[in-house]
Amino acid sequence: NGIIIAIDGPAAAGKSTIAKKIAQKLNYTYIDTGAMYRALTHKAIQLDINLNSDHDLTALLENTDIHLKPDGDNQAVLIDGIDCSEEIRSHEVTAGVSAVATHMSVRKLMVEKQRELATGTGVVMDGRDIGTAVLPKAELKIFMTASVDERAERRFIENESRGIYTPLEQLKQEIEKRDQSDSERAVSPLKMADDAVLVDTTSMTIDQVVDKVIVLAEM
Ligand code: C5P
Repeated sequence: NGIIIAIDGPAAAGKSTIAKKIAQKLNYTYIDTGAMYRALTHKAIQLDINLNSDHDLTALLENTDIHLKPDGDNQAVLIDGIDCSEEIRSHEVTAGVSAVATHMSVRKLMVEKQRELATGTGVVMDGRDIGTAVLPKAELKIFMTASVDERAERRFIENESRGIYTPLEQLKQEIEKRDQSDSERAVSPLKMADDAVLVDTTSMTIDQVVDKVIVLAEM
C-alpha cells in the first residue's frame, strides 16, 4: 500500500535525484515524465522532424514506444526497445525539449500515458505539471526549487562526473531559458499547485530533502 507523490519544479532542482531515492526507500514506482518528453524529442531530432509541428510530433508519439525501466539505482529509458538513457540527456535534446513540450496534443497523449503508468499504489512521479494536471488527486504534492545559481552549479558538477564540460554561465542561461519557456507556455505551464508544499533545497543536502519528503509522506 502507498500513496501518490507528485514532485514538480523548475529545471535542475534535484527532482529526479530525490524522487528516485524516495522510491527506493518506500519501495514505490518512480516515473520520470521529463524523460518521456526527452525521448520524443530525441527521436524527432533523429528523424529530422520539425519540433514546432504539433501534428508531426503527435503522429510520431503515436508510433513510438517509450518504456521506463528500473535499472539498479537508476531508470533506463527505452525508445522502441532501444536503450537511449544517455542520448536523451544530450545538449541538443535539452535545448529542444521545451519546444516539444509546448504542444497541446503531445501533452494530451503524454498525460494519458503517465496516468496509465500511475495506476496501482505507491508512486513517485516528477515533472512540471504532475500536481496541477497529471495527478491532481495526489496525496502529497511537492514543489521543489533552488536558486538558479545553485541549480546551475549542481548541473555543472553532475555534467563533470559524466565527462561533459559546459561553462557554468552557459548552464545558468540554459536553465533560465527552459524555465521561462516551461512557465510561459499555454498548456499546463510550470506552476506550483495550490495544495503543494514548497521545498527550497538551496541549502539542503540530498538526504535532508529525502527525509523531509518522507516525513511529509508519512503524515
Ligand atoms: O525534468 P526534465 O528536465 O528532464 O524535463 C525536460 C523538459 O520536459 C522540461 O524542461 C519541460 O519542457 C518538459 N516537461 C514537461 N512536463 C513534464 C515534464 C517535463 O513539460 N511533466
